[in-house]
Amino acid sequence: MKTENSIKFSFPALSMNEQTSRAVVSAFLVQADPTIEELADIRTAVSEAVTNSIVHGYRSISGEVELCVKLLAGREIYIRVKDKGCGIEDVEKAMEPLYTTAPQEERAGLGFAVMQSFMDSVRVRSKPDAGTTVTMRKKLKETSCRTS
Ligand code: ATP
Ligand code: MG
Repeated sequence: MKTENSIKFSFPALSMNEQTSRAVVSAFLVQADPTIEELADIRTAVSEAVTNSIVHGYRSISGEVELCVKLLAGREIYIRVKDKGCGIEDVEKAMEPLYTTAPQEERAGLGFAVMQSFMDSVRVRSKPDAGTTVTMRKKLKETSCRTS
């Protein structure tokens, strides 16, 4: 699919950068004129993926998170969140709703479920001790049939 525009940036795995990543994604997506609901869905999905890289991927070590956002032909949004943290041993299991390795931190184990419900597709590639890459796509509605 042809890329019409894209941004890529990386930031240290600090929790305050969860809001930075939401803000950058919102600013980039202005050009695609998404509905308020579409924008909220994408912001939430990005936030869940970035939070996972920060709290699980790097846990108590420092590292960089890379966020790439693309506007593809046909009003499709492509998002990639990448870390070089601890990785996930069993991705299928990690993606099950309510599965968490941090219940003591009051994590619900719903981050991947949220990403899947708010985006059209979510793909996770991960390798223990190498890192995790989450790729998500969502097609925006055509501007002519907007309801909001
Ligand atoms: P919640 O998102 O509801 O606060 P959670 O983060 O535990 O809880 P998910 O986001 O669904 O739930 O992630 C499930 C599990 O997958 C995590 O508990 C963690 O073990 C693992 N995981 C997710 N993302 C990463 C990552 N980037 N690096 C390492 N492990 C990860
Ligand atoms: Mg999570």
